[in-house]
Parts: sequence; C-alpha cells; structure tokens
Amino acid sequence: MPTFKVAIVGAGPAGYFAAQALQNAQSDDKTFAIDMIERLPTPWGLVRSGVAPDHPKIKTVSKVFEKIATAGNFRLFGNVELGTDVQLSDLQKKYDAVIIATGTSLGRKLGIPGEELKGYLSAADFVPWYNAHPDYTDVDVPLDTDTAIVIGAGNVAMDVARMLALDPTELDPTDTANYAIAAFKKSGIRKVYICARRGAEHAAFTSPELRDLPKLEHTNVIISKSDIDAAITAAGDAPEKDVKNNLDAMLAIAEHEKTSHVRTMEFLFHHVPTEIKGAGQVQEVVFKTPTGEKVIKCGLVISAIGYEAQPMTGIAYEKGKVLNTDGRVKDNLYVVGWAKRGPSGVIGTNKSDAAGVIELIISNLTTPKNSGDINDLIGAHKVITQTHWEVINAAEVASGEPLGKPRVKVADKEELLRLGGF
Ligand code: NAP
Repeated sequence: MPTFKVAIVGAGPAGYFAAQALQNAQSDDKTFAIDMIERLPTPWGLVRSGVAPDHPKIKTVSKVFEKIATAGNFRLFGNVELGTDVQLSDLQKKYDAVIIATGTSLGRKLGIPGEELKGYLSAADFVPWYNAHPDYTDVDVPLDTDTAIVIGAGNVAMDVARMLALDPTELDPTDTANYAIAAFKKSGIRKVYICARRGAEHAAFTSPELRDLPKLEHTNVIISKSDIDAAITAAGDAPEKDVKNNLDAMLAIAEHEKTSHVRTMEFLFHHVPTEIKGAGQVQEVVFKTPTGEKVIKCGLVISAIGYEAQPMTGIAYEKGKVLNTDGRVKDNLYVVGWAKRGPSGVIGTNKSDAAGVIELIISNLTTPKNSGDINDLIGAHKVITQTHWEVINAAEVASGEPLGKPRVKVADKEELLRLGGF
C-alpha cells in the first residue's frame, strides 16, 4: 500500500484541519505520513495566541487538534522554522506534497499619517502580546492614558476593545499572559471607543460576540440607539440574516440599562480615520464623520482592520495572500487557511477549506517519493515533538491549576524548550 509523505508548515487550525482531512482520506490503497512543522515550540497557532483569553470556550477546539496529533501517521516538528532551519525547496524534494498553513500574521496598514507614533499599534501586535506569544513580549503598549481608540468593526476589534475595557480582575481566571494582566491592572484606560468607518448595517462583528457584551460585569457598553435605528432603515425591509441578527444584538445593547461603571466601551459608526496626531506620542485621532471633522483625544490607538501574510522566500503573494488556484501554489506546493483565502471566517471554516485542498492534492498524487524526510534536513536541531509538547502542555496546565486558570502560558522560548526537556 503506497504511503505518501505530506509536510504541513504551520500548526494552527488550518494546518490541523488539513492533517485531519488527510487522515480521513486514508484508504486501503493510500495512506499518508504527515509531518507538521511549526516555528514555535508550541502548536495551535491562533487558538493559543489569537483567541481572546476571556473566551475560553473557543479554545476547546485544541482537544480536536490533540486528537489529530495522536491519531497516528502524524509527527510534530516544533521549533523548526521554514526559511531558517529548513528550506522550502528541500522540503518539496523530500515530500509528495507540502502544504503552507502559516496564516496571516501582519496587520494591515491604515495608510494615514501618524502610524509611526508611539501609542499606535496593530491588533497583529497587541493580540499576541496579551496572549504570551514569545515574539511579542516586548511590544510597547502604553496604557497610561484614560482613552483608547480601536479602529475596525470586526471581531478582532471587538476582542481588542473588550480586553482594554473590562476590569482586569476578570482576566485572573484566564490564560492571559501574566505580564499583560499586571499591565492591565495598572492601566489608566477607562474609555474605549471602537470606531467603524461605515454604518452598523455593514459591521463585520458577529452576533454571538455582540450578545456577550452586556454580560461584562464592570463595563458599560454604549451604542447610540439613533445609529442603530438609522442602520435598520438603511438595511431595508429584507436584510440578510446575519445583518438582522447583528442589528438586533446592537439594538439590545443600545437599550440595555446603563450603570455607574466608570469603564466604558462605546461604538462609533461612520467614523473614518484620516490622521493620528501627536508629538512623538499619540495624542488624538482625526475622523471624517457625516457632520464634518471630529477629533478624539486619546493615548492609545489600535487598528484591527485585517491581516496579511508574512512573505516567505520562494512563494508569490498577491493582496496579502499566497498566490494560488483553489489551494495549489505550484508543483507539489499547496496552501490552506488564511494564507490561502485571506483572514476571514471562524476557526471551523478552515475545516471545509482544508478538505477541498486535500481532495485536490490527492487527485494530483501518483507514485510516492522515496527520498527521506525532514530529519535528513535538520540534523541535531532541538525539535519539539508531540511528546515534548505534551510535557510542556501538562506543565502549563499544572501551574494554572492552583490559581484557578486553565494554564499559565510560558512566553519565553528558551524556557519552553527547557520545559520540553532540552
Ligand atoms: P474583519 O472581520 O474582516 O473586519 C475588519 C474590519 O476592519 C471591517 O469592519 C472593515 O470595515 C474594517 N476596515 C478595513 N480597512 C479599514 C480602514 N482602512 N479603515 C477603517 N476600517 C477598516 O477582520 P477581523 O476583525 O480581523 O477578523 C478576521 C476574521 O476572524 C473574521 O472572520 C472574524 O469573524 C474572525 N474572528 C472571529 C472571532 C470569534 O468568533 N470570536 C474572534 C476574532 C476574529 P469595512 O467593512 O468598511 O471594510
């Protein structure tokens, strides 16, 4: 029975669902040996370093990932970086198919003056900072201001605004990075604006996330009822289901009784940012609004307006994505997930996306290569295997237990390697 070797680069949701689709496609006349390569010593991608820590339910998908990782014919090669420790062209020679599943890690630029100022950052830097991503622990997040502005009307903007606006004691039972909880506890921010450039009928939020907002225990969430009334009119008599659900959820927030909390999170619609101003440090944002120019003073601006893929040598990119046709890049190279289709959809979207690409890969497979594997390329490198990762995982979970947290994340690469046994 022929066994085809498939390398998956990137241990996030897209990578795991690609592995799962391969496992599901095995038959009496075809099996797959799957090697997943991940540059960090920890797998799970955005489930570890992207999902908001106050939404732990979303992270339970990691149980599925662990099942895939232990289902057989699967090996993890953590702490191995493509382009540094191993070259793409070498992988392509060793494997029958190579699948890029590296996501989109760069924040899109607003393209307005002031993005270079201290106090302006992208969600692409802020989110991994509070999630203990080893490469982002040094991000400078100035929280010594009373007002923050989040630009964008998607779920990432909402995550970011919520993390800034909630009472940080609510983060104690979460796996937020310890240093970030400490910083949030010292934060002076009491007012967070979440600014959408269009009306509420166009917002990219999803309704379950909106419906969660009034449950914040120490924060007033403010949406102007007249904004939503206008959006309902603009949406017309037969709005799409998602738009209607969103507007219903936002109307409920607008009508939700306000309390005396000093912490507020306020939605502003039809606010198009045109300039970020300040002397070396963010001091205000200028917006174009339907009634003219409006200036809001603030000390922190975070844009959450989408992501682009980090370019890699040997791969062509277009509009922030890997150039591909239905997942095929060239020769035996394929792409799945956000690197393929851009940053859209929820974690589960990657399942059907990957299944389609795996079908295409299988249809292109002929005779298996007999050319070794990644072990021939990396020599004595410190590889975090599934066994090493399970030790790290258990140690993090164990240190969280007495604190009532799901885990205490280790953010230092060397410490992670040490925990893994190196
Ligand atoms: P997104 O949903 O595409 O939202 C991006 C937002 O940025 C849109 O509101 C867009 O407005 C706005 N925008 C783009 N360019 C702009 C500019 N130049 N100036 C001002 N605003 C601008 O992206 P995301 O929030 O990064 O989320 C990515 C994906 O992850 C989404 O599918 C999201 O649902 C998912 N996600 C899900 C969860 C969850 O389920 N809990 C959490 C986080 C993320 P326009 O519409 O006007 O372009």
